[in-house]
Amino acid sequence: MQGNGARQTGTGTGTGSGSETGIEANVREILLGIGEDPEREGLVGTPGRVARAYKELTAGYHDDPVALVNGAVFTVDYDEMVVVRDVDFYSLCEHHLLPFYGHAHVAYLPKGRVIGLSKIPRIIEMFARRLQVQERMTVQIADLLEELVDPAGVAVVVEGIHLCSVMRGVRKENSRMVTSAMRGVFRDDEKTRAEFLGLVHGGSAL
Ligand SMILES: [Zn+2]
Repeated sequence: MQGNGARQTGTGTGTGSGSETGIEANVREILLGIGEDPEREGLVGTPGRVARAYKELTAGYHDDPVALVNGAVFTVDYDEMVVVRDVDFYSLCEHHLLPFYGHAHVAYLPKGRVIGLSKIPRIIEMFARRLQVQERMTVQIADLLEELVDPAGVAVVVEGIHLCSVMRGVRKENSRMVTSAMRGVFRDDEKTRAEFLGLVHGGSAL
């Protein structure tokens, strides 16, 4: 761990410390607001279920990135590109509280340090399990990796399907959104960037 590795990675828009009871009461209000009967059999347990679901889906606010990485940053004499692609993620758009989901692809070029491979999906999940916009999530993943590994460069590409667009039938052309964050050599060197994008898009999984 280097420097201020324990940087607060919250979005600044919420601490996730709200109470489950508060969510329950308000979900009941939503049911009333859409003209439903919160007492009918199928709905009577819904506020509690929704509150528990939101707790799980926003658990990323409470993850400490340092504890999450748990010392899995190693000094290694390796300077070839490390790529982790097709990592599934599920998040909630902060504008509609509706899911967006898809794949994230991450690469970095080490300069003396690497991170345990299983940690990259955990980092993605930590940021996905918050209220998000895809652009910010992409940048947060890149920022944290840069901070943890101090590599020669970091690249993150996120492809997401946003149910707020798809279900509502608006902006269908943007229903699959692609965002990227390129740092260091991935930003400055076209060849390195092209190699990464080739690896990401060359596979069968896309
Ligand atoms: Zn939305």
